[in-house]
Amino acid sequence: MFLLFTFYFYFLMRSIQDAFPLLQSPKKIFITTHHKPDGDAIGSMLGLYYYLVKKGHAVTPVSPCELPEFLMWIPGVDQLLNWEAQPKRGQQALAEADLIFCVDFNDFNRTKFIEGALNAATQPKIMIDHHLMPKPVWDYGMSIPEKSSTCEMVYDFINLCNDNALIDTQIAECLYTGVLTDTGSFRFPVTSASVHAMVADLKHKGLEHAAIHEHIYDSWSEGRMRFLGYVLTEKMEVFHDQGAALIALSRKDMGMYDTQSGDTEGLVNYPLSIAGIKFATLITERNDEVKLSFRSKGSFDVSAFARQYFEGGGHFNASGGRSKASLRETITYFKKILSEIRPANEEDHTNN
Ligand code: 5GP
Ligand code: MN
Repeated sequence: MFLLFTFYFYFLMRSIQDAFPLLQSPKKIFITTHHKPDGDAIGSMLGLYYYLVKKGHAVTPVSPCELPEFLMWIPGVDQLLNWEAQPKRGQQALAEADLIFCVDFNDFNRTKFIEGALNAATQPKIMIDHHLMPKPVWDYGMSIPEKSSTCEMVYDFINLCNDNALIDTQIAECLYTGVLTDTGSFRFPVTSASVHAMVADLKHKGLEHAAIHEHIYDSWSEGRMRFLGYVLTEKMEVFHDQGAALIALSRKDMGMYDTQSGDTEGLVNYPLSIAGIKFATLITERNDEVKLSFRSKGSFDVSAFARQYFEGGGHFNASGGRSKASLRETITYFKKILSEIRPANEEDHTNN
């Protein structure tokens, strides 16, 4: 089934090299990424932005919504158009574009507010992404789930264009951000030798990695740190028999410590540091839906889990989904499913 889907997809989407002729002369380019963008989404979009500008194109990078605080330092942040805040300007940039680049997502619905406009757009669409099971809606692109991050793929794309020499410190900082965050600081199994080779190259281009770590990981408010303490002490449930853990947060919980959008980022990973825990879930109550984040270690496929039960998807070891039911009903439903599976007992899966 997976193979069939892959063939179907590759028949419809042409390789990114086939799009090179479109980039031979200066173009107006619209780049976007997924809703609630993370380090890889923004890093890959702005790294690509700076590269395409250097090649003489007029580029508008568009985020579906505001950025989390921990990314507000990244080069190019002042160039970003926020579609949610300025939908008319977004629509106009899209209407004027000759080409559309989409990075770090594989289904237009991951852009939330931009989905309808992307569906209606008739310009050539190019994707660069590493999520499993892409929708066949792009004309050209690279879709490689084995890649650590979309930032690594933007680096590959620039090299494919024979433009390694154009990578400067700004581009290096953007690309490093996504590789760093998507590999869990170079610890997940997707951290291949080519990731480290890329980082070595970025260092030669002037990258100061320690400053980026500090921006991303040492910029918490006191409230966020205390909120983490509260969550781990009061809100984390551990199911040792299943090798699983759950953190469920209501809107009230999130209001307790003066937390901001983005402060739940990374919470889902903490339970995986408990010996024997292979599957961690974070459920958060949002205004219009309940959001679920899944992480696993080893052979439990959380992408399939998210697709099967929570209208979601993502990667083998990191995925997400949603529920239209209430928070309480979602927790009950989740626990019922959990009682029927054994995530910790799946055979160990070797990864690259
Ligand atoms: P997060 O838990 O950080 O929101 O998401 C983890 C991974 O799963 C990300 O790579 C993200 O793109 C993917 N993901 C999160 N939510 C969804 C969703 O609702 N649908 C799909 N297809 N992927 C998701
Ligand atoms: Mn990514």
